[in-house]
Amino acid sequence: MIPVRGYDGATVAVLGMGRSGRATAAALQAGGASVVVWDDGQNGRDAADEAGYALRDLTQASSYAGVAALIVSPGIPHLYPIPHPAIVAAWVAGVPVDNDIGLFFRSFATDDWDGFETTPRIVAVTGSNGKSTTSALIHHILVENGRPAQLAGNIGRGVLDIDPAHDGEVIVLELSSYQTDLARALTPDIAVLTNLSPDHLDRHAGPGGYFAAKRRLFAEGGPDRAIIGIDENEGRYLANQLSEGAGDDRVLLVSSGQKLTEAAWSVFARKGFLSEYRHGRQVGTIDLRPIAGLPGAHNHQNACAAYAVCRTLGLGPRAIEAAMQSYPGLPHRSQIVGERDGVRFVNDSKATNVDSAAKALQAFSRIRWICGGLQKEGGLDNLLPHLSNVAKAYVIGREAEQFARQLSATQAEVCTTMARAVALAAAEAEPGDVVLLAPAAASFDQYDNFEQRGDDFMACVAEALSTPLA
Ligand code: ADP
Repeated sequence: MIPVRGYDGATVAVLGMGRSGRATAAALQAGGASVVVWDDGQNGRDAADEAGYALRDLTQASSYAGVAALIVSPGIPHLYPIPHPAIVAAWVAGVPVDNDIGLFFRSFATDDWDGFETTPRIVAVTGSNGKSTTSALIHHILVENGRPAQLAGNIGRGVLDIDPAHDGEVIVLELSSYQTDLARALTPDIAVLTNLSPDHLDRHAGPGGYFAAKRRLFAEGGPDRAIIGIDENEGRYLANQLSEGAGDDRVLLVSSGQKLTEAAWSVFARKGFLSEYRHGRQVGTIDLRPIAGLPGAHNHQNACAAYAVCRTLGLGPRAIEAAMQSYPGLPHRSQIVGERDGVRFVNDSKATNVDSAAKALQAFSRIRWICGGLQKEGGLDNLLPHLSNVAKAYVIGREAEQFARQLSATQAEVCTTMARAVALAAAEAEPGDVVLLAPAAASFDQYDNFEQRGDDFMACVAEALSTPLA
């Protein structure tokens, strides 16, 4: 745990008693703060009570007497579509609002670092898609090369839950737009933007607010290195704004598809090959095609970003390549979960938005596509140009019929349940086909989360594979 600094003897309020709220409360207490908490749900309040925290209804401005700060969990809207009443009350009372990421950045460095040979460093990864994969891959490459590293943030452990840093350790943080938007301190040494496509627009009042939230990671703290995916205009804009000019290699450009040989420092992937260029000269290359844990051009983008980070941390191209070969992949992202008679079953339940599903649909050539669920704002129009590899769609979800209607000329069968979709796709698949779960929708109409949806897919695949062929 990282004890929170700066609030010794003060009272701090924590809103939301989920995983990150509980970790935050514990870290505040470890740093000498007294903690008062609130959660809208009875379960959260019971959990707080059990852990011995004082409950206080933070939706009233009068509750903030003597409170030094309000710390908000990422699931709670802090501005759009409407701010949580406790946040409005904190504004009225003049109490600063922050989150665990802000506390982390202010608490991470300690006096022990005086004796270290190498100062610990923080790599922060944001973007619309590929954050988890890129973060996990960076962590994997570092660990495989014997570098001390910890992985936290939106992935796995809460940031305040990690162990205090060791000499020379690298902390890899995956940060969502909610987290970067609210944090009052954001000072990574290396900051990464994987890519940008519309997502969570309700929480940011549109694409401008969404980009602004991610941009803070680069604008607030001024990282030593900015690694920026420039396959969208927002990335190009940001890279241009941060760079002092053509010779400035503090800004590394990353692309999947574009040849970037003119930049001061760039890493790009084309036709399955990663290339690194520095000041007009090629200095590294990797054949990404045989790397099983990173299939498709989207994962090659992640590989480029992770490679760039590891290069700035001093690893050589061959050491990075060797570690990439053993990257096992993350559950529910391009995960091969079964194979029979030349038919592969791939779980990409994490493809909750149109862009990530479009990428998955380009990674394989003949696809039996299981899709549908709770549709996100913006509709499916951006998906339609990417359906040429789809042999047939098997649509799940409570609104399956409406979803299927939007797939235009693609053959689509309304299955509603995962069990029916998998059974039908497995029965109809031919050798060489991929049965792919890439829903292009959230899971909440039928499941608690995308993990549960992916688990259901895997159970249905296991069932289908254990049934003898007719
Ligand atoms: P995040 O943490 O940003 O949600 P993940 O690595 O968990 O990213 O991947 C989320 C989804 O997006 C998965 O379906 C994955 O296959 C897909 N994906 C991964 N990397 C990319 C990328 N670079 N561009 C687009 N989609 C991607």
